[in-house]
Amino acid sequence: MHPTSIIASMSTFVAVDIGGTHIRAAAYETDNLTSLTHKRTRSHAKEPGTFDRLVKVIESAWPEDRSVAAIGMASPGPLDPQTGVILATPNIPEWVNFPLTEKLSDHFGVPAYLDNDANLAALGEWKFGAGRGHHHVLYLTISTGIGGGVIINDRLLHGHHGLAAELGHVVVLAGGPTCSCGFDGHLEALAAGPAIVRYVREQLEAGTTSELSSVDTLNAYEVAEAAKRGDALARSAYKRAGEFLGIGVASFLHTFNPSIVIFGGGVSRSGSLLFEPFEASLRSHVFNPHYLDDLVITTAALDDDAGLLGALALAQMKQSN
Ligand SMILES: [Zn+2]
Repeated sequence: MHPTSIIASMSTFVAVDIGGTHIRAAAYETDNLTSLTHKRTRSHAKEPGTFDRLVKVIESAWPEDRSVAAIGMASPGPLDPQTGVILATPNIPEWVNFPLTEKLSDHFGVPAYLDNDANLAALGEWKFGAGRGHHHVLYLTISTGIGGGVIINDRLLHGHHGLAAELGHVVVLAGGPTCSCGFDGHLEALAAGPAIVRYVREQLEAGTTSELSSVDTLNAYEVAEAAKRGDALARSAYKRAGEFLGIGVASFLHTFNPSIVIFGGGVSRSGSLLFEPFEASLRSHVFNPHYLDDLVITTAALDDDAGLLGALALAQMKQSN
């Protein structure tokens, strides 16, 4: 290869992950997943000045000795990935119809690209993680909520306004418990961490005996630990979540026919507690067994860096288009 083409193929990107508690920024060279720089700051997203904190952390991660080709950013939605506008996000109340990429592009003098955190986690897993080599990917993150990302033919599914793949907000139990979004019976309200805790509380109040009755501040992790020690109520809470997850994912297989399903988020680290009932439920809810042929079901490989590496993948792909 001619030396100039080697230089031309190397670019530097700044990736940003705007999370609920921290904003992280890191600089990368093309396809090298070891960051050149990596900085983080507290988001304090409920307080004014989030944009200024964002700019500062990006400046601190900006590599001094190289020119940056583009900024890629992961943020909670809803947002419009085409225009780079944050429509409204519960985590950052001051950002309503906020033209984030335009403002950053003006400040730093390079193109800036934006997508929602779950979409970019899916993109990161597809390009650098558990989904490498797959062309049709379903990604679900299960923690305090359920987020989704779908890749079809090596492209993220966005929909008309960029609002597609909100997989936590599909109805799996009509008239079921109320979701964080205010609607009833969504997958998130039956299988995310708070749903598992809510079920345990309801059963305790109804008189079920369990070692968890002595725990003041319950969370999904403690329920998982009790389940591993054999607590029947804790096990039944995970079984129920896994069964509803199977109902939801069966519908996603019918809709998208992926070759891999990747689970991220804290609740997905509970192992067989969740995944045994999930897989049994999935098998009993697909209307044709061919949806399961060669289907890979696995956990995410990138962990906490999924949003950051997804933002890197986004910037790289936009620049190479
Ligand atoms: Zn919902």
